[in-house]
Amino acid sequence: MNEHGSATAAPLARLVEEFYKLPGIGPKSAQRLAYYLLRMPLSEAQALAEAILEMKERVTFCNVCQNVTETNPCRVCSDVMRDRTVICVVEEPLDVLAIERTGTFKGLHHVLHGAISPMDGIGPEDLKIAELLRRLDSGEVREVILATNPNLEGEATSMYLSRLISPLGVKVTRLARAIEGRQEMHN
Ligand SMILES: [Zn+2]
Repeated sequence: MNEHGSATAAPLARLVEEFYKLPGIGPKSAQRLAYYLLRMPLSEAQALAEAILEMKERVTFCNVCQNVTETNPCRVCSDVMRDRTVICVVEEPLDVLAIERTGTFKGLHHVLHGAISPMDGIGPEDLKIAELLRRLDSGEVREVILATNPNLEGEATSMYLSRLISPLGVKVTRLARAIEGRQEMHN
């Protein structure tokens, strides 16, 4: 097999192209990964391909809180023991995990899937904000806790949401985040 440029075997070139689409993967890394997989035993490559497909088939986003889930609505949203009057708003699914790990929060979650960041071209319409407002329609929710990250983007998102939600007669609290792993990142 010729390993140079356009003379590369088509399936290999195709895989390089697919890797190149991934975030943080440049052309060199894409090539390195593709060649690594080429030399990998078939069984390992199959396991990787199956893991990707199984994840895509079985994991989805909860219609209610937008967290990752295998059931829809998710386990937390379906739990009748949870306090439905409080919603804790976070940026990423991993934030939900961190909060659940503390075991002290009994309300519901809402995952925005990011934060407002004009520098990265991420505006409010790119986040799950409409979905959050829809949850407030029923009047059941009395408090929204804004637990976005304590950085510029997180603060901007929190302020934006606060301005949107406060006029609805819902109490808005900004959580001074002390969730493990975050604290040391922000001194
Ligand atoms: Zn949910």
